[in-house]
Amino acid sequence: MKKAYYIDYPQEHVEGQAHTYQCVYCKVVTTKINGSIEGHLPSCEYRLKLERDGFEKEKNSNAHNYSLSDEVD
Ligand SMILES: [Zn+2]
Repeated sequence: MKKAYYIDYPQEHVEGQAHTYQCVYCKVVTTKINGSIEGHLPSCEYRLKLERDGFEKEKNSNAHNYSLSDEVD
């Protein structure tokens, strides 16, 4: 299921800018990311993890529907 906003990434304070925070991994500021996974760099560890975990890009949100339920012992 697609979430509307992705804001649970680790953030750190931007040095010298009192109210600015950035992603720990890709160093893009939070105001630029704006809750969007695609606001992170393609190489961002957080973005890569979400994509591994089955994050679905908006363009093909119904493309995948994996089922693991029919594994029989
Ligand atoms: Zn990032």
